[in-house]
Amino acid sequence: MALNFGAIEDKWQERWYSEKAFEPAPNGMKPKFFFTVPYPYVSGTLHVGHGRTYVSADVLARFKRMQGFNLLWPMAFHATGTPVLAVSAKIAAGDEAAWKLYRGYVGTYEKDVKEVERIVGSFVEPRAVMDYFSSTIIRDFKSIGCSLDLSRQFTTNDKEYNKFIEWQFHKYKKKGYLKQAAYPLLYCVDCANAVGEDDIQEGDTNPVEVQVFTAFKFKLEGEDAFVVSSTLRPETVFGITNMFVNPSVEYVKAVVDNETWYVSIQAAQKLSRQNHSVKETARVQGSALVGKTLVSPLGKRVPVLPSSFVDAETASGFVHSVPAHAPYDWIALADLKKDVKTLVKYPGLAEALEAIEPISLVSTPGYGEFPAKEACERMKVANARETPKLDKATAELYKKEFYDGVLNENCGQFAGQKIEQAKEGVVKWLKEKNAVVDFYETTRQAKCRCGGQVIAAVMQNQWFIDFNSEGWKERSNECLDRMFVFPTAYKKQFSDIFAWLDKRPCARRRGLGTQLPFANEWIIESLSDSTIYMAFYTVIKQIRRFGIKPEQLREEFFDHVLLGEGTVEAVSKTCAVKPEVLKSIRKEFEYWYPNDLRHTSVAHVSNHLSFFIFAHTAIFSPKHWPRAITLNEMLVKEGVKMSKSKGNVIILSDVKRKYGADLFRLCISSASEFGSLLDFRDRDVEAARKSFIKWTELMLVLSEAAQKTPVKQPDSIAVKWMS
Ligand SMILES: [Zn+2]
Repeated sequence: MALNFGAIEDKWQERWYSEKAFEPAPNGMKPKFFFTVPYPYVSGTLHVGHGRTYVSADVLARFKRMQGFNLLWPMAFHATGTPVLAVSAKIAAGDEAAWKLYRGYVGTYEKDVKEVERIVGSFVEPRAVMDYFSSTIIRDFKSIGCSLDLSRQFTTNDKEYNKFIEWQFHKYKKKGYLKQAAYPLLYCVDCANAVGEDDIQEGDTNPVEVQVFTAFKFKLEGEDAFVVSSTLRPETVFGITNMFVNPSVEYVKAVVDNETWYVSIQAAQKLSRQNHSVKETARVQGSALVGKTLVSPLGKRVPVLPSSFVDAETASGFVHSVPAHAPYDWIALADLKKDVKTLVKYPGLAEALEAIEPISLVSTPGYGEFPAKEACERMKVANARETPKLDKATAELYKKEFYDGVLNENCGQFAGQKIEQAKEGVVKWLKEKNAVVDFYETTRQAKCRCGGQVIAAVMQNQWFIDFNSEGWKERSNECLDRMFVFPTAYKKQFSDIFAWLDKRPCARRRGLGTQLPFANEWIIESLSDSTIYMAFYTVIKQIRRFGIKPEQLREEFFDHVLLGEGTVEAVSKTCAVKPEVLKSIRKEFEYWYPNDLRHTSVAHVSNHLSFFIFAHTAIFSPKHWPRAITLNEMLVKEGVKMSKSKGNVIILSDVKRKYGADLFRLCISSASEFGSLLDFRDRDVEAARKSFIKWTELMLVLSEAAQKTPVKQPDSIAVKWMS
């Protein structure tokens, strides 16, 4: 018996959508359930990793419907920021790689080569990119059996949506959550624009942050200049014994503000983007600085020693050495003592090295005078090339000293303080002496999706959301306390993230999206305009049905329909919208809200989902705060993460042809729990296919048999299979 699964799937998918089976209206007779999944980005096609999230979501949605809920699951499209513009620019510029990539995407839907060329050519217009991929994404969702309400679609670039986001930001500003100041943030040197998680290569799975180094100015003896080192542990200033320079790196001598500094070439470029004036005057090979004497911020004379492990790419490109407490510094000195070739090359080096005495500055239970030495011995670190061991030793020792250590008698007025307390005080004291400045650096080397280098830059008058604004964290924690989160372990992760959330830049100078209503040169960025849009789903359908124009969607309109403020008569007059229309829209919002469940992947916990909770507690009253979040882990293919470079990406539009919707859904929903990585293996899919076909055949045989009277013995296939 040949079963044509594809034809069966087509038949039902068509029928669901032609009969509008998933477009519920408010219904007082049924309990409602408002279910959402983040809207996809429209700069390309989706893959089976997204498929895991949407199939898991669909299983949840269908289950709630079967329980008798009037369930709304709408869908829209995200286009904010620069990715769509970047596609258009590359296609317009004739970029071969971009054309190849997009011919590939379009070629999965369109067989006629001429038509593929025409469609890709149309992508010079950003709107065409959005329109094309929103339509193919819907096609893909249908093909894997998703049960979506498509009657409430919009993109984040639509005028009605812009009005809604403007309203949200007016609210933030009035409540004092939105601020403006010079602010360090991630920045692409090629785009010349601030970038976020979404713009950075692997930014969602391997996050990048801005971290603050303290840059130390060491006076160079015999010259009116400073050698500038940098550290994440400024409190160790009391244990500095020497400076390390990389002899094979070229450094610059530059006038930075009003002083002459030596830093790496990369550091000079970064400083120029961090609110410093930088004028290069010369280039100097690192080796030329070996053997020089510096005066530390504490007035101590220290030598410059060579080390090939100093990285020009990180912070200022010089590292001062605290051998008693830094495993890297301890081992670098030990390596140098054994490095005869280098000792011979630099006269006086051996003597300088011999004179170095490590200085202990932290007393920590369980450690002696020189913890770095003990940590290296414990981990059996042979030399400075053993970076994994050294990274581990450094992290462990730092944690122990940070929480349990006390600064000792070598630390002047800070003696007796815990590092946690002393850190800030030491920096303040050194800044008053004009001995240090902040240096911003990324937590890892990162690239923009355009290929440009991502650095930390200081933007003037940057708009940001201040999550530490009074009372906001308390309200968001209250919301979290009431929420159901599954897998349950993530609830703790949310509260840790809430504690750590600080300021977040929320607008950029370029990109698609909504302008800040009170500062039009700024565009609200993609993780800031996607936090309360679930509410927009409940009103957009009627906004369009009643032909309400964007200019009618004033602040008073949303104040009324979403927050119940103002009288119907007054708002009707101000916005020129009929009272009965306002009442009807308000009623629909009140029927559907709050969002009962949001489902997505765990990668969204630290960014999107946390902002989703904060934005709701900022704007809505507790009865409209979100109720639940469910999360699924990532999907990998044959044990390997999917990536374009590995060529193992299965795009969603291939699922139907390769597996069929039902088999794919069966595998996705049974192969692992929400909280576990799903390893999608062809062998397992084949095994599932066989058992799936056997089951289906058995069911058919049994149902045919049941229709015949008298019931006959089922045919041989089923008998064989059962026995
Ligand atoms: Zn870029």
